Formats: sequence, C-alpha cells, structure tokens
Amino acid sequence: MRILMLAPPGAGKGTQATRLAEKYDIEHLSSGEILRAEVEAGTALGDQVREAVDQGDLVPDDVILRLVSSRLVTAATNGGYVLDGFPRTLAQAHAIFDQVLANPGWQLERVIHLEVPRDELHRRRQARAEAEGRADDTATVFEHRLDVYDRQTAPLIDYYRGRGLLIAIDGSGTPDEVAEQIFAAVDDLAPL
Ligand code: AMP
Repeated sequence: MRILMLAPPGAGKGTQATRLAEKYDIEHLSSGEILRAEVEAGTALGDQVREAVDQGDLVPDDVILRLVSSRLVTAATNGGYVLDGFPRTLAQAHAIFDQVLANPGWQLERVIHLEVPRDELHRRRQARAEAEGRADDTATVFEHRLDVYDRQTAPLIDYYRGRGLLIAIDGSGTPDEVAEQIFAAVDDLAPL
C-alpha cells in the first residue's frame, strides 16, 4: 500500500499516518520528524536546517531528497509507505516520483487530502504547542506555515486530483472518526 497524506499543518497528518502504518503494517515516513531528529542530534545537516524549521520555512528540496531517498526505496520494496510531510512542493513530487521511485511498482496509489477548517487548525495548534512545545507551533510561526502551505504545497491538491489519485476526507472529527473514513478509503489497496 502506497499512500501520501496531504494536509495543512495541524490537520492530523502525523496522527493518521501513524494509524495507517500500524493497521496495514507499512512504513510511516515523516519528513518533519526526520528533520527534527537531525536538529536535536546536532548533526551538520541539522544545524544547516534548524533556522528554517524553527521559522516555518521549507528546507531546500535537495536536503529533503538526500534524507528520504534511501528510506523511500526500502519502504517501497517492503510492503509500502505512508508519506507524511513530503512531497511538499511540485518540484519534490517530480524528483521523488520521476526519479527516486520511478519504478511503476513503487508509485503512489492514493493521496488522502485531510480537510480541516482554519479555526480548528488553530485550536489544534494551541493544544499541540502546550503538549509538545515545538518552536514552530507558536501562533506567529504557525500562521506563516499556513501561508507556506497555501503557496507551495496546496498546488499538489490539483496535481493529484488531475491524476485521479486524490480522495478528500473531512478531517475535523475526532482521530477515531477520521481514521475510520481513511481506512474505508484505502482498504481496497490492502493485500488479501
Ligand atoms: P511538519 O512536521 O511536516 O509540519 O514539518 C515541520 C517543518 O519541517 C516544516 O515547517 C519545514 O520547515 C520542514 N519540512 C518538513 N517537511 C518538509 C519538506 N518536504 N520540504 C521542506 N521542508 C520540510
């Protein structure tokens, strides 16, 4: 099963990707988590991306590709993946699916677009900020991340709709309610 979660910050991509990975025994790949681990470990690459991550700006496409390419191929050859946080630009989408995962058996099968109203995104942002204390969950940085999403990531919605891969899911309910809808939307892809 090969799935992409596409949604603005705070919509529940990570939560739902974790559930999908557990239910269908596929690899959950989160570019945000991979980047935060690099920053926390203080690697050279972590130091290079720290400012962009903390300020809610995208890190360069080549950095993302370097971090995710081998993990992607491993997952694609081991039962599949659920991507959380990437591709986040059309350029990343082309680089990943025209180059890294060019093999037809490794391509995306479905894109889950979680739709959540803005006021609910802000409410969830505040709850997560209190629970996790991420530097990029402050009100100002989060607002910037929403702008970045609208400008750089939202074009992927039409791109994948045009390819017949997009399924829109109402992401405003509880995690259980949303998960149920997502499972129903992908269950036909599960191996028998
Ligand atoms: P996330 O956890 O997906 O919200 O990502 C947190 C931050 O990591 C983003 O605001 C970006 O700074 C960076 N980031 C995560 N994924 C990507 C990506 N695919 N391309 C560029 N920057 C990313």
